[in-house]
Amino acid sequence: MSGACCDRTESSEVADACVSCGQRARHVEWLTVAALLRTPIPPKQKFWICQETNCDVVYFGENPGATYRSDALNVEPGFKNPSGDALLCYCFDKRRRDIENELRTSRDSAIAAEIRTAISAQACACEVRNPTGKCCLGAVNAEIDAARLRIKTT
Ligand SMILES: [Zn+2]
Repeated sequence: MSGACCDRTESSEVADACVSCGQRARHVEWLTVAALLRTPIPPKQKFWICQETNCDVVYFGENPGATYRSDALNVEPGFKNPSGDALLCYCFDKRRRDIENELRTSRDSAIAAEIRTAISAQACACEVRNPTGKCCLGAVNAEIDAARLRIKTT
């Protein structure tokens, strides 16, 4: 019953809990869900994404039964995969292991530079390739930090 002036488009993006694990779930565009599902596309509705590694739910929608696990997607979400195979950049097929390997021989990540160049050229399709619907650079940068720590301690 609240007026349109009270719609919380921004804050509702982070305020919801996963239907399975209860952890924070972010709003994700229906178009992204439709593009990533290998099943027939669901009716238009609000969708959320759970990025917890140990939770098997990836997407859930407003409608009952609109819950999708990794095996319903046409790509395995990297955030559900703790191994070196985990995809980080879905546009250019970069995996956790690729970043770790290049940082063993180089101070800087050529992969991150390559992705930044593609972003400036608007040559990414994250909205329909990345299960989060967002740019991968945040996850790539987090992985660079994590990989540097792993290399230092091994
Ligand atoms: Zn979850």
